[in-house]
Amino acid sequence: MSKITMTTPLVEMDGDEMTRILWKMIKDELILPYVDLKTEYYDLGLEHRNETDDQVTRDSAEATRKYGVAVKCATITPNAARMDEYHLKEMWKSPNGTIRSMLDGTVFRAPIIVKGIEPCVRNWEKPITLARHAYGDVYKNVEIAADGPGKAELVFTGADGTQKRQTIHEFDGPGVIQGVHNTAKSIESFAKACFNYALDTRQDLWFATKDTISKTYDHTFKDIFAEIYEKEYKSRFEEAGITYFYTLIDDAVARVMKAKGGFIWACKNYDGDVMSDMVSSAFGSLAMMTSVLVSPSGVYEYEAAHGTVQRHYYKHLAGEETSTNSVATIFAWTGALRKRGELDGNSELSAFADKLEKATIATIESGRMTKDLALITVMKDVTVLNSENFIKEIRKTFETL
Ligand code: NAP
Ligand code: MG
Repeated sequence: MSKITMTTPLVEMDGDEMTRILWKMIKDELILPYVDLKTEYYDLGLEHRNETDDQVTRDSAEATRKYGVAVKCATITPNAARMDEYHLKEMWKSPNGTIRSMLDGTVFRAPIIVKGIEPCVRNWEKPITLARHAYGDVYKNVEIAADGPGKAELVFTGADGTQKRQTIHEFDGPGVIQGVHNTAKSIESFAKACFNYALDTRQDLWFATKDTISKTYDHTFKDIFAEIYEKEYKSRFEEAGITYFYTLIDDAVARVMKAKGGFIWACKNYDGDVMSDMVSSAFGSLAMMTSVLVSPSGVYEYEAAHGTVQRHYYKHLAGEETSTNSVATIFAWTGALRKRGELDGNSELSAFADKLEKATIATIESGRMTKDLALITVMKDVTVLNSENFIKEIRKTFETL
């Protein structure tokens, strides 16, 4: 059988620890035998980031802008312990943060649904995709303590010197004060990424804030979304048969719990932080969550939502057997290959991605899985496989489809 050819390369961002091991196994077993893979390779492993003063991360983001589709392995975000472990020149920033800010992107996370791994919320039949705004609010706050009685004010000084001023509070004793901000530009990018992704995946879009209480701040989010929707997306949504739905955040939470799933839930930064952990843990396992960064200009970077699975890596280094789940990383590859196929009019490549996903799900549904899933499945008599054999079983299933 001849291999599927590609016209445009994928941007391939290699990473660290256990996921770097899985990365190679996935390529060798599941992709290279079938696809004449074209990638532009960037090694984002921590050692190479350190050698290049993190230039490799910026180059990989630049290449993603150029080619439009990237696939990324999980990477270490250095902390004090990693400084010693890897003898780092500097505590390099999170690659995800660097790439996200260079691409001005929004992250969409969705669970992979398989029969036998049931969500805690019984009525969730389809995935709920969470979109988290990745700029501002409490994550870029400034805060001070009021040490005693006094007046706190909010002051804006325009570039031309004109001022707006409001009293926040007249303190009669100690307290705390916080200043948060966002920018119209960032909210617009967020809105566009959400509308584009809803069209892309043909799913309804929900968005919620607390605009009844926050009549200027949160209301601005609501207004920007509404304005962009009316102007640029309404007719396209109608054509696609999907809807944009705005409500209050507390109402959204109540509705999500009773919904069937199958929609995108866009959240402000803090809501997204909290709700994405709730939704992902209720769907079963972090190892079954996919993640894609989408820029407002339509650039895509696919990855797994989990980290480098450090604990398993040290077992692997010690020569012990591991049972690390490669599903989210496989789906990062299939997501990227499918999107590349769509953009290049290469239907064979997209069909390959669909088939590999099907084989992955069918393998688990037949009772062959890694330990993390065996611990939570409702299936009886399952076969627990090690990291490598799970991937090999997926290949066997693939060959039968
Ligand atoms: P992690 O890699 O997400 O793993 C935490 C634990 O979750 C694991 O020890 C394992 O539990 C379980 N787990 C996660 N993924 C799994 C998988 N595919 N298969 C089986 N079990 C899985 O988080 P971490 O170990 O705290 O972080 C390691 C490194 O990842 C850190 O340096 C962090 O900076 C980085 N990180 C990177 C990204 C990214 O690149 N997107 C995201 C998050 C974290 P058990 O040990 O109980 O089996
Ligand atoms: Mg969090």
